[in-house]
Amino acid sequence: YAGKKSAQALGDTMNNMKVKDFQSMPVVVRESVSVYDAICQMFLEDVGTLFVVDEQSLLVGVLSRKDLLRTSIGRQELNQIPVHIIMTRMPNITTCKKSESLIEVSRRLIEQQIDAVPVVAEEPAGLRVTGRITKTTITRAFLSLSESHEL
Ligand code: ADP
Repeated sequence: YAGKKSAQALGDTMNNMKVKDFQSMPVVVRESVSVYDAICQMFLEDVGTLFVVDEQSLLVGVLSRKDLLRTSIGRQELNQIPVHIIMTRMPNITTCKKSESLIEVSRRLIEQQIDAVPVVAEEPAGLRVTGRITKTTITRAFLSLSESHEL
């Protein structure tokens, strides 16, 4: 049964899509940088989410576009406000590991209503940021399915 077989193959391919095969480079800022500098970094690196790290490069927070916009409305001193004041902070950060399936991370993005998660490696002192998965990653993976299966 040709149709059924093809659907099975597609399912297998989807379940085999891992974070490590699709992740992109994380863009990080230190917790001491100003909101102004974080906004500049977001434009320079052309990303929608910045991950915030401490001196040891361990994850401490996340900054979204709207976090930065909210702070910018009606404020003058964006140079004076450090990002650690406004970021979403640990332990409330949704993360993923490189060995996890992309389907599982997609579910997390939808359930938490977020655009990106950091790929992390657990260390005794905390979580090291090694990559990022975003809605763009998921869209790219979706497109790769249609290409590899000639749908
Ligand atoms: P935006 O706020 O620009 O729409 P998001 O939907 O990604 O972007 O972010 C919504 C809120 O969730 C923001 O306050 C942001 O700090 C927070 N957030 C974003 N990514 C994560 C994450 N991986 N874990 C926890 N909170 C997050």
